[in-house]
Amino acid sequence: MNQGTDILVAGAGAAGLTVGIALAQAGFEVTVVGALDGRRNARTVALFEASLRLYRALGLWDRLSPFATPLERIRLIDDTDSVFRPTPVLLRASEIGLDAFGANIENADLVAALAAAARETPGLHLIEDLLGDFLLTSESASARLPGGERIEAALLVGADGRGSRVRAAAGIGAREWSYSQTALTALLWHAKPHRRTSTEFHTRIGPCTLVPLGPTAERPNRSSLVWLMSPEDAERRMALSDPELAAEIQRQVHDIHGDMGLEGPRGAFAMSGLRCNRLTGTRAAVVADAGHFFPPIGAQGLNLGLRDVAQLVASLNRHGRNDPGAPKALADYDAARRIDVATRVAGVATLNRSLLTHAMPVDFARAAGLMAMANIGPLRRALMREGVAPAGRLPPLMRTPRGDRGADARG
Ligand SMILES: Cc1cc2nc3c(=O)[nH]c(=O)nc-3n(C[C@H](O)[C@H](O)[C@H](O)COP(=O)(O)OP(=O)(O)OC[C@H]3O[C@@H](n4cnc5c(N)ncnc54)[C@H](O)[C@@H]3O)c2cc1C
Repeated sequence: MNQGTDILVAGAGAAGLTVGIALAQAGFEVTVVGALDGRRNARTVALFEASLRLYRALGLWDRLSPFATPLERIRLIDDTDSVFRPTPVLLRASEIGLDAFGANIENADLVAALAAAARETPGLHLIEDLLGDFLLTSESASARLPGGERIEAALLVGADGRGSRVRAAAGIGAREWSYSQTALTALLWHAKPHRRTSTEFHTRIGPCTLVPLGPTAERPNRSSLVWLMSPEDAERRMALSDPELAAEIQRQVHDIHGDMGLEGPRGAFAMSGLRCNRLTGTRAAVVADAGHFFPPIGAQGLNLGLRDVAQLVASLNRHGRNDPGAPKALADYDAARRIDVATRVAGVATLNRSLLTHAMPVDFARAAGLMAMANIGPLRRALMREGVAPAGRLPPLMRTPRGDRGADARG
């Protein structure tokens, strides 16, 4: 048996659910297919201003804010052995007229809240399964459910993450590379308050970042950890007991939050990067990690992916009302996303490599950059704005500043 829909979305992670809801709200009939990932693997995402604007515009922020902790300050600390070690840089959201740069939220909470919203969105059909056997022609896109049923659509959106099968089926060329780094993640309680400040230590093997989390009934002070390290160190640390690992983390972050302990399981993620030649194929478009990924430095990954989502909605509204898979609509989406995606992928790769490279000119350039950021106000503010809500090229769903600017988030 076959069924039809305007737009078929493969993947029900944060990107797939968000694009499904946004496109259904825009008036398209949408089917989202994907298994919901409810694992608690100590992963959180810091979502910045433009992403929060998107969730506000979609009427979803009230569902997400109970799980979100505001990020008011970001502290960058050079923790390398470089001879050019600059003083720490403290970035304050208030300097760019915001109460908070954004908010930190556990992945599992984000996906669960979005899935609940998706189930209540008119025009959106959520199927918790996997799609396969993708077929793309100039007339239509289709894919098969494991039970044999085929779903046909005018457009297939690949929100199916790093190993995207939609990307492959659409013949989208991509360059992929790996780093000898693993990100260890954990949720922590600690003795001293974080004061809504995220702290990023730049070490020789990559950043080690503590991101504020809100309190629980038992623990008033909590943070999430993303610590990039060699795969060997990650393997060793994954085998440590909770108190042993907590002691190593406490040493690594120079005891800034006092005594700490682990809450629940930890995670380990091998680091790699990917960039596509384009984000579209015949009757297909990819968004978020299906189209680009890189190590979690500066918390850019999903924020970049949500800008894909907002732009895809804008391009389909402009050129795809009658046919969402029309070449003109897809060309508009691809062209609009090119510069933002290319600069973020290259920027994160450069910063990561600058830490891994033990070369004096590279150390000097990195230190000079941080010192310029600390001392030159207009440059610092321009970089902060660029990080949280890039100027000039935001799609309509991300243009309206938040009214209460995160004051309703917890923590
Ligand atoms: C340690 C770490 C920390 C991070 N921190 C941040 C941060 O602070 N801020 C930030 O912006 N980003 C961060 N990121 C990046 C961010 O987590 C990702 O960009 C984001 O999760 C990508 O979401 P997605 O929906 O594109 O992909 P995924 O979350 O991978 O979801 C893809 C979904 O598609 C499903 N799927 C796959 N194939 C099929 C198929 N054939 N049919 C149906 N479904 C399919 C999968 O099951 C999966 O559920 C971090 C990443 C890591 C590793």
